[in-house]
Amino acid sequence: MSVPPPNDETKALLGQLLGLVSQLQTSQAELTKQVSEYQKRTNRALDSLQQRVAEVVLPIVTAESPTRPYRTFAYDKDREHNEDSDDVESSTESFKKRSASPLHSPNPKIVASSNNSAQQPIYTSRVVLTTYPGQAGITPIPLIWGHSNPHTRGPIVASRIPSSMKLRNAVGAHGGAYSIYRALAIAIRELDAAHTPNLHNTEPVCKIGPFPSWNDPECIVSLDPWGHVIMDVYKDELAKGIDIRPTIAITKAHMKLLEVEEAVRKGRLVVDGKIVVNDLGDLMVTKGAVEPVWFLPGIAKRFQVDETTLRRALFEDTGGMYPELITRPDLKVFLPPIGGLSIYIMGPPEYLSDPSKVLTLRVHDECNGSDVFGSDICTCRPYLIYGIEEAVKTAQNGGVGLIVYFRKEGRALGEVTKYLVYNARKRAEGGDTAKNYFLRTENIAGVKDMRFQATMPDVLHWLGIKKIDRMISMSNMKYDAIVGSGIPILERVPIPADMLPPDSQVEIDAKIASGYFSHSAAPADLSTTKGRTWDDINH
Ligand SMILES: [Zn+2]
Repeated sequence: MSVPPPNDETKALLGQLLGLVSQLQTSQAELTKQVSEYQKRTNRALDSLQQRVAEVVLPIVTAESPTRPYRTFAYDKDREHNEDSDDVESSTESFKKRSASPLHSPNPKIVASSNNSAQQPIYTSRVVLTTYPGQAGITPIPLIWGHSNPHTRGPIVASRIPSSMKLRNAVGAHGGAYSIYRALAIAIRELDAAHTPNLHNTEPVCKIGPFPSWNDPECIVSLDPWGHVIMDVYKDELAKGIDIRPTIAITKAHMKLLEVEEAVRKGRLVVDGKIVVNDLGDLMVTKGAVEPVWFLPGIAKRFQVDETTLRRALFEDTGGMYPELITRPDLKVFLPPIGGLSIYIMGPPEYLSDPSKVLTLRVHDECNGSDVFGSDICTCRPYLIYGIEEAVKTAQNGGVGLIVYFRKEGRALGEVTKYLVYNARKRAEGGDTAKNYFLRTENIAGVKDMRFQATMPDVLHWLGIKKIDRMISMSNMKYDAIVGSGIPILERVPIPADMLPPDSQVEIDAKIASGYFSHSAAPADLSTTKGRTWDDINH
C-alpha cells in the first residue's frame, strides 16, 4: 500500500510542528544555560557568604581570645578601638601583638621564645569554617573504599595545608587525639603549620598484606588497610607534594617485664634465644600502632544506625568540632579524635595469616591504673601478662602469639569516670559487692560499657587472620564480635584463679554472673562477694 503525497494542509501543519520543535529546542538550550548560570551564581554566593562569615567570626574569636583575663588598663583603650573597627586585619594584628606581649600571656617564656616569628601571621585572615560539595575549586581525590587497587581506592587526604586543602577527601585530622597537641604546637610556634613528615626509612619492618579482606568495603571500616605502606603505594602523589600520612607503623622491639622475668626464673617460660632471648626474660617482639580511620557508611552499618544520625551525633557531641560531617556528605571518611590501638606479635608475623599455624590471641582494653601502675582492684595487668605468657609459649611451639591493645580506658568511659565509680563502690552502703558492680558504673556514666566491640575485629581482618586457636579472654562481647565477623575461635581461655589479685574478685564474680565466659560459676548471692574497704588499705 502506497502512502499518498502530503497535501497543502498537511504541509502547513508539519511546518507548524517543526517550528514548535525548534522553539522547544531553543527553550531547552536557554534553560540549560540559565541553570548553569544559576549554579555559577550559587557557588559564587556560597564563597562570598563563607568569606563574610569568616570576617564576622574572626573578630568574635579575637574578642574571646585567651588574652582577655590578662587585660590591663594600658591596653583596654587600644582594644576598644579595635573592637569598634570593621577592619579584620587591624583587629587580627592587634590580637597578635597582644598575644606576643609577655604582660598578656599566660606563659611569658613561650612568647619570649617565639617573639621573632610573632610578626608573621601563622594563618591568613580568611577562616575556612567549612566546605560544601561542588564548591568552586573543591576537587576531592576520588576514594573508593574497599577497592583492591590502592590507586583506584585512592589515598586518604585530610591535610589543610594549601597544597592539599582542595584535594581533601576525609573529615577530621591525622593523629587521633594527638591532633590537638599538634594544633597547640602550631599555635605556640613550635611547629610550622605547613610541616609535612619526611618518611625516609620509616617503612614497616615486616610485610603485612594485602589480603582479600582488604577488598571488602564492609569487612574493614575503622582503619586504613593501606595505612602502613602509603610511602610505597602513593609515592607519586607524595612526590607531587600531596600531604598523605601513614596511619599505621610497624617496628621491632625488645620487651622487658618483671612478671616475664619471674616466669623464666620459676620455669614457666624457657629461654630459646629467639623469642625469650635471655634469662632475664627479655622478649623479642614485632609491634605496630594503628590510628583510627573511619569509613562512615561502614561504621553506620556495623552499629546499625543510619549514616545521617551517626554524622549528626559525631558533630553535636564533639561540640560542633567537625562541620564537614554535616556539610560534606560526599566525604565518607572521618579521622576521629580518639585513641588507636597497638599490636604485639610474638613469633613470625607472616604466621598470623597462615591457618596451618596455631594462633593465641589476647584483645586487651587499656587500664592505665592496673596495666602500668599495678592497681589491684581489677584483673587487667594479670590478664595482660597471662596473655603475653601464653602468646610466647605458642610462638615457642611453632605458632604465633598476638596481643591487641586498644586505647579504650575505663571501658571507653575514661579514667575520671572510672575513679568516680571506684569511690561510689567503696562508699556504698553494704560495701563494694559484685551485686552492684555494673550498677555503680551505670549510675554515673549512663551506660555500663562504651567499648562497643563491633569494630574491634577489623584489625584481625587487616592482619589476614582466618581462625583463632586460643583466645585469652572471658569477654562475651569480644568473642561474639570476632566470631560474628567470620573468624572462628577454637578455644576460650579464662585467667587462672591463682593470678587474680585479691580485690578483683568483685569484678570477676560480677562478670561471670552477667554471662562472661568462665570454667567456674559465680556465687548464688553476689552480695557475699565483697571488695576491701579503704580502711583495709590504710592499715
Ligand atoms: Zn583494670
